[in-house]
Amino acid sequence: MRTAVYPGSFDPVTLGHLDIITRAAKIFDTLYVAVLINPTKRNTWFSAEERVAMLHEATAHLPNVICESFSGLSVDYAHKREATVLVRGLRAVSDFEYELKLSEANRHLSSEVETVFLMTNHAYSFISSGIVREVAEFGGSVIGWVPECVLPRLAERIKKQEGRGK
Ligand code: ADP
Repeated sequence: MRTAVYPGSFDPVTLGHLDIITRAAKIFDTLYVAVLINPTKRNTWFSAEERVAMLHEATAHLPNVICESFSGLSVDYAHKREATVLVRGLRAVSDFEYELKLSEANRHLSSEVETVFLMTNHAYSFISSGIVREVAEFGGSVIGWVPECVLPRLAERIKKQEGRGK
């Protein structure tokens, strides 16, 4: 049994993430999609619970995918779930440097956990959660960039923000 963990912020989940999840779910017996409760990224748009709920809905058709949140080190979480692989996605060259450092650090922390990279699907190579938030905030359409279940939540988030006078 091969178990993998796909950790990330998923603030919110995009079709780029979902593509990586779908492909990784075919490679591994069980895939944990893990929302990091990151103390250095306090200003997330969505709470960890909301991010997990969106992932849950978006992956409902994938029986071997489990979505949950975690805090602390990805390798510690992987050990807890008896996973030997961390899945990460690579888009542009700009991702490479950060991901290389992260995978080196994780290897240093645990030699039993291997990082496996999946290259982005060309159709989603420009999509990031940050771009989605920015475009949505200024009224642009993000249809085709995020799973449908994310659209009403984005609209709600923006309405709340406008109500607060920004
Ligand atoms: P982001 O805000 O960049 O979407 P996340 O922390 O949620 O960041 O991303 C988790 C992982 O998914 C990272 O390895 C990131 O490179 C990867 N990823 C994010 N978007 C895409 C995409 N469109 N295609 C491939 N991989 C992606």
